[in-house]
Amino acid sequence: MSLLTIRDLRVTYGTGTAAVRGVDLTVAAGRKLGVAGESGCGKSTLALALLRLLPPTARLTGEILLDGEDVLTMKWGRLRAVRWAGASIVFQGAMHSLNAVHRIGDQIAEPLLVHRRATPNAARERVGTLLEQVGLPAARASAYPHELSGGQRQRVMIAMALACEPRLIVADEPTTALDVMIQAQVLRLLERLVTEQDISLVMISHDLAVLADTCDRLAVMYAGRVVEEGPARDVYDAA
Ligand code: ADP
Ligand code: ADP
Repeated sequence: MSLLTIRDLRVTYGTGTAAVRGVDLTVAAGRKLGVAGESGCGKSTLALALLRLLPPTARLTGEILLDGEDVLTMKWGRLRAVRWAGASIVFQGAMHSLNAVHRIGDQIAEPLLVHRRATPNAARERVGTLLEQVGLPAARASAYPHELSGGQRQRVMIAMALACEPRLIVADEPTTALDVMIQAQVLRLLERLVTEQDISLVMISHDLAVLADTCDRLAVMYAGRVVEEGPARDVYDAA
């Protein structure tokens, strides 16, 4: 069975913009789907819809089945449990997602503590392990976001996304804000970790070549719809 099944998803913002206009996609457990398309075609809206992180004025219809459960009709309490623990999202520009006034270790630990996945002591230990998994010394837990480079901050976001052992990670332009050399390092890290931990990946990028390197399957969006979908190499070669 597929881990994620999206059926006829439509998203209209309160402004009247129909950003997603009938999308069908599936991701099997442990597989990697790339979503490409030019700016404004609805990629980020799709990512945010997966965890209902859109503004409350947005109207969503269709189905988003995560492990058979519809995210769109899920009760609030269940949705809270699914966020971070069922699926996590890594956004571009970690500075937006990290809180400037809290130590990074406390931020990585937060989903663990909120979801009662760990006692404070166990969480501290897990934060050290997670930091090492993303290539940072455990002692960096006491650093503040501004003390890290952009690439290191994005590694912290990946650690946070992994904290509650989700089955799915959605990466929305996870490396766009970084230098080209660092982009490749962070992408390889993310790819290696999701593969090792058997986590499904939905990776969003405007860069088809990056997705073709990382993902098994590729979907290309245009004006709110998927206009091309198939094995990554086929879609890339046809483009
Ligand atoms: P992409 O990620 O592919 O660049 P987006 O999902 O960000 O595309 O945007 C899709 C469309 O929805 C665009 O027309 C954009 O202007 C619009 N849009 C995005 N976010 C909002 C919002 N919060 N309110 C109103 N319209 C939005
Ligand atoms: P809050 O300030 O209440 O955390 P947010 O809008 O940042 O509000 O997040 C709403 C909910 O979504 C919270 O439960 C938060 O933990 C969860 N959440 C936020 N970002 C992510 C993410 N990247 N991945 C998974 N869940 C997230």
